Amino acid sequence: MNQEPITSLKGIGEKTGALFKRLGIETVEDLLHDYPRAYDVYEPAIPVGQVQEGRICTVCGQLLRTATVRRFQNVQVIVTVVKDLTGSLSLTWFNMPYLRSALQMGRVLLFRGRVVKKGSRLSMEQPEIFTQEAYEKVMHSMQPVYSQTKGLGNKAIVKAVTQALSQRQMEREYLPEGLRKKYELAEYNYAVEHIHFPSDQQELLAARKRLVFDEFLFFLLAVRRLKDKRQDAGSIYKMKPVEEVKRVKQELPFKLTQAQEKVLGEIERDMDSGLVMNRLIQGDVGSGKTIIAVLALLQAACHGYQGALMAPTEVLAKQHFESMEELFAAHKVQARAVLVTGSMTAKEKRLAYERIAGHQVDIIVGTHALIQEKVIYDKLALVITDEQHRFGVGQREALGRKGTEQKGQEASASWQRGGQPHVLVMSATPIPRTLAIILYGDLDISILDEMPADRLPIKNCVVDTGYRDRAYRFIEREVAAGRQAYVICPMVEESEMLDAENVLDYTKLLQKKLMLGIVVEYLHGKMKGREKNQIMERFASGEIQVLVSTTVVEVGVNVPNATVMMIENAERFGLAQLHQLRGRVGRGKHQSYCIMVDCSGEEDTRKRLDILNRSNDGFYIASEDLKLRGPGDIFGLRQSGEMEFKLADIFTDADILKTVSEEVKEMTRQDPMLKGEEYGALRERMEQYLGAGMEQVNL
Ligand code: ADP
Ligand code: MG
Repeated sequence: MNQEPITSLKGIGEKTGALFKRLGIETVEDLLHDYPRAYDVYEPAIPVGQVQEGRICTVCGQLLRTATVRRFQNVQVIVTVVKDLTGSLSLTWFNMPYLRSALQMGRVLLFRGRVVKKGSRLSMEQPEIFTQEAYEKVMHSMQPVYSQTKGLGNKAIVKAVTQALSQRQMEREYLPEGLRKKYELAEYNYAVEHIHFPSDQQELLAARKRLVFDEFLFFLLAVRRLKDKRQDAGSIYKMKPVEEVKRVKQELPFKLTQAQEKVLGEIERDMDSGLVMNRLIQGDVGSGKTIIAVLALLQAACHGYQGALMAPTEVLAKQHFESMEELFAAHKVQARAVLVTGSMTAKEKRLAYERIAGHQVDIIVGTHALIQEKVIYDKLALVITDEQHRFGVGQREALGRKGTEQKGQEASASWQRGGQPHVLVMSATPIPRTLAIILYGDLDISILDEMPADRLPIKNCVVDTGYRDRAYRFIEREVAAGRQAYVICPMVEESEMLDAENVLDYTKLLQKKLMLGIVVEYLHGKMKGREKNQIMERFASGEIQVLVSTTVVEVGVNVPNATVMMIENAERFGLAQLHQLRGRVGRGKHQSYCIMVDCSGEEDTRKRLDILNRSNDGFYIASEDLKLRGPGDIFGLRQSGEMEFKLADIFTDADILKTVSEEVKEMTRQDPMLKGEEYGALRERMEQYLGAGMEQVNL
């Protein structure tokens, strides 16, 4: 593998290198595996009269006049008009005054760009300009489109990838010949090259199939290894059910659902079995996973052990901590909890660590820093991770290891003595059972398939931008009734590259549009931990009535008094993600509403969003989404990146996933350690794969 830094490429200095780093690309190898997120196909030009709003089109025509440059505030705008027999279309470019000389009246050129509506007229913005010969050359070819960042555009990335491909050394094929033949898989080097520059759809599909196969293969081999290691591992933490847990359960203001009772029973049995628990709880948003976690932690505390609860965000960790403290206070529970987050000062952290190591606390709540940082526990018997939908094998492995780094104990010795903690993973990603069994092959699975009875189904609507004012009036009425609202925007701040609502401007807008006295604040991922916590706390306490946010609220946040979820640019989100966002409301006894604003005006989008409109059931939504996208639809919006796959989509690539799963079973049945000569290169590659997040292994 080519571990040369990206700056070893010609034309990439420190500055550009830093921009690549922002995209997560540090080495030439990273660059080669930074796959395009889409491909532009240069289709033949269409008549000017047939262009459609919102679409990227190519037209060919004559310039009606020489381009003129105007200034608006700080922006230089070039405008001209192209016409053919069917009509005319205005063309606009921003801050590119040098284009003017090419745009002389009478020239016949091709223009390719997005068509937008300006007032009542259509206009093409920032089109690429081609002569007829130039367009002939690119027509029908597929041009890769990469994720970009400010200052590093697509052209520069394409150039870098081209260079990296041309000077790289061919890699040794690591899949056994027989396997490649059996599944008609492209050769590795071919796949890497053609995922970037396919000349047609067929080449792209061949390249993609191979790379998806590999992603699943490495993942499932790692899962298998974890499973082997975990199978029947003895535990020194054997916990009988305790009276205290039963008491708290009975005193709760609500009765647990049957599903909750069943899952809690499974957990109690696991923890009392003398074997290490490795369990996944799958439950749709709002099904009540948190209380189960809390009761399990209490169980551990009552036995004199420690338990840890990890959340993906600080906001969520803090919320869990606070609701736990509240619950304990209300029921006079003796267990002591502590919060550990990244935004604590060094001193606060040190104090917390001391209390943990000295077993002055029983329950530790925090972000994933908990597994990364050097926290020393005392008798850590249970580790729970919440809302874990990007749960790679590396993280799963790290979890189990945590208990082995305990006070004064030699790590491996503790492991052998069964000192690994019980592990409970809670996920809201609705994955069909057949897939969950494969992807979480190292875990037992519990399913929470029932909602608390007191819930009213959320009322949904999908609207266009013309509905906004009515939505604001609706929010005002809900606030007047004592409720609260979320408004979600896809972006933090305005961007040149994307035309989408942003949190900062939208907050200002709402502060003007909503009645005086309504407190509107914002929340986004770039804010400091402390600021985020403050905002979230003020929202939870009702001091803020309308919270404008990016998807940082997507995971887990629980403010049952919030009843309106308004999502701007709903077309930009995957259905699963929208379902998660919507799950932030409808968590209490009040009727809740979800308003999805579709800014695309496209028929396909409308159809997709309509699935959410019809149903509040995560599993149903995932399956309908799949039907609409169809297997092999590789450019649909991905379901916010499950696991650690770059290309593979567990839904649309479910067939490959199942195939690979069968193959892994077969391979390891015949040769459990893959010691055979044909697996030599594969084993080496596997070690590199695992090296990133896991200890070195001999498969
Ligand atoms: P999620 O499964 O999405 O994590 P939570 O655990 O946050 O859901 O629960 C959502 C809300 O439902 C919380 O306010 C919680 O107190 C409440 N809740 C949990 N279980 C029940 C139940 N059996 N009956 C009524 N409300 C419940
Ligand atoms: Mg939750």
